Amino acid sequence: MAQDQTIQALSQETRTFAPPPEFAANANVTAEAYDRADADRLGFWADAAKRITWAEPFTEVLDWSGAPHSKWFVGGKLNVAYNCVDRHVENGLGDRVAYYFEGEGGDTRTITYQNLQDEVSKAANALIELGVKTGDRVAIYMPMIPETVFAMLACARIGAPHTVIFGGFSARAIADRVQDCGVEVVITADGGYRRGKPSPLKAVVDEAMESCPDVRTVLVVKRTGQDVDWTDGRDLWWSDVVDRQSAQHTPEAFDAEHPLYVMYSSGTTGKPKGILHSTGGYLVGTSYTHWAVFDIKPETDVYWTAADIGWVTGHSYIVYGPLSNATTSIMYEGTPDTPHQGRWWEIIQKYKATILYCAPTAIRTFMKWGRQIPAEYDLSSLRLIGSVGEPINPEAWIWYREHIGGNRTPVVDTWWQTENGQILISPLPGVTETKPGAAMRALPGIVADVFNDEGKPVGNGEGGYLVIKEPWPGMLRTLWGDDDRFQRTYWDNYPGVYFAGDGAKRDQDGDIWVIGRVDDVMNVSGHRMSTTEIESALVSHDAVAEAAVVGAADETTGQSIEAFVILRESAHGGGQDIVDELRKHVRAEIGAIASPRSIMLVDELPKTRSGKIMRRLLRDIAENREPGDSTTLADSSVVAQIQREVSGS
Ligand code: ATP
Ligand code: MG
Repeated sequence: MAQDQTIQALSQETRTFAPPPEFAANANVTAEAYDRADADRLGFWADAAKRITWAEPFTEVLDWSGAPHSKWFVGGKLNVAYNCVDRHVENGLGDRVAYYFEGEGGDTRTITYQNLQDEVSKAANALIELGVKTGDRVAIYMPMIPETVFAMLACARIGAPHTVIFGGFSARAIADRVQDCGVEVVITADGGYRRGKPSPLKAVVDEAMESCPDVRTVLVVKRTGQDVDWTDGRDLWWSDVVDRQSAQHTPEAFDAEHPLYVMYSSGTTGKPKGILHSTGGYLVGTSYTHWAVFDIKPETDVYWTAADIGWVTGHSYIVYGPLSNATTSIMYEGTPDTPHQGRWWEIIQKYKATILYCAPTAIRTFMKWGRQIPAEYDLSSLRLIGSVGEPINPEAWIWYREHIGGNRTPVVDTWWQTENGQILISPLPGVTETKPGAAMRALPGIVADVFNDEGKPVGNGEGGYLVIKEPWPGMLRTLWGDDDRFQRTYWDNYPGVYFAGDGAKRDQDGDIWVIGRVDDVMNVSGHRMSTTEIESALVSHDAVAEAAVVGAADETTGQSIEAFVILRESAHGGGQDIVDELRKHVRAEIGAIASPRSIMLVDELPKTRSGKIMRRLLRDIAENREPGDSTTLADSSVVAQIQREVSGS
């Protein structure tokens, strides 16, 4: 075996799905977009920028002279909140619904674009009264309720970058982010509803504030009505301050490069990075991709990104992309199994949702619960479904298309990162003949490639490292306060080229499959393999809902393959028989080299709040180490539970 091999391509997946002819005939984007962008990439993005209303036009599309720090739409001025709200009201769309809000307990609110304009203006006036100035950072630690969007847009409206912190993070995680970002004003709520219970937010902020002496104001939305402690002089009720404000506020136009927000990445692989996004390029990137990838028809679509606003998918595809396109969206506060496992499907049926965008972790959970649950609901309104956040196992993709998409809808597997701001690699639903588990190809205007160790493009059928070779509008501008880490993390591996940190392969047709993180690549007897393809082989067995694979240190082979598997609820028994069968199955699907040394049956896997499997914690367990930093974990008891399951088995 050659020494310079990068990552072996293992999967044998060959199924393909062409766009339905009617969908293709009416699609927003046709194949011509690729040609247009190939011929003149910057001209293509200048066209996309016409989606936005500029208070002052830009004079240059891209200034890359300070690479890797980019400037997009140089000289242009705009206000993001105006673009997401006011201009739609001016265009006579004030009565259009921006959000159908569905609380976990079943309470609902309908927020029109006119409501949004009033509420955002009031919140902006309130922030000004509280002394927030352009450039000041505001932290937002909220449940999934409309006020979260009001707060974000109010910040954008006055040019105060927001940093939204997941409503499930700990006091320590809040304090780290508030300190790192130099925040003086925090917006939170008394609590939010999670799994049928009010879960406290204000109390967690209070604890965090013990180590954040610079925070002078905590603005509190009343959501649950639960008891809260109160620090006079610091804490204020949102209703006391915001409700009495004028609903008139004139938005100021900011430079295209004015910072819009800082978002800390999920922290799947280590310490979260404060990713800085700016105004003009980000809005163009999210607006165009939302329109193109989801084929948005704002007059008729009911669009649902079933994700949390506290991660980048929520920022780009619950808030900025959809609102810039005057879309009607669904916002759901709670978990998918509250009060019952059909909750999502009930919501789709109720609002006649046309587009659903969610994460593979959710899809695999639904697989685990069984197809009979969505089958009870009318999902025929759906015309397009999408996936984001992790590689989607081909079998999960097929399940999603069949049991949610009714074997009818295109599926878009969208690859991107917090750093990217916008979707970069994805099928176009009216153009691409999709393959289950493949993000397929870079969107128009994006130049992606797969490199080997020497920085040369790999051939078809080969694996390597995913890179982006040209800048794009929604790209991060830097890491907050850490230009060095920005340079090191993304730009030093291959000079001038963005290194995504993900493994990928090109198949025989040259299409791109993202096969997991570089940190998760295993080396077994000199073979470098991605965990993803072995996981997908496991998930392709009828009994398996979810699988995580890690490489554990091994004296003879370098690393050995250790698998953690969650069975579907319909799979009875378990035990050694199923373990042997799964091992045989992997051998048959992708070969003996990929056969796991051990397969452990578990009830849960450690995941971040955005639903990504944290393999490094499983590696710690497999190597009998004290598990490392787990502050971004959704449920911190899972690691101990798996340790018990493993030592008991
Ligand atoms: P950190 O960088 O702090 O470790 P993170 O990478 O999990 O956290 P995100 O920016 O939310 O934080 O996640 C981006 C990553 O998610 C990608 O680098 C990739 O590994 C994975 N990902 C997202 N979408 C897809 C997809 N469609 N297919 C495969 N992987 C995906
Ligand atoms: Mg990352």
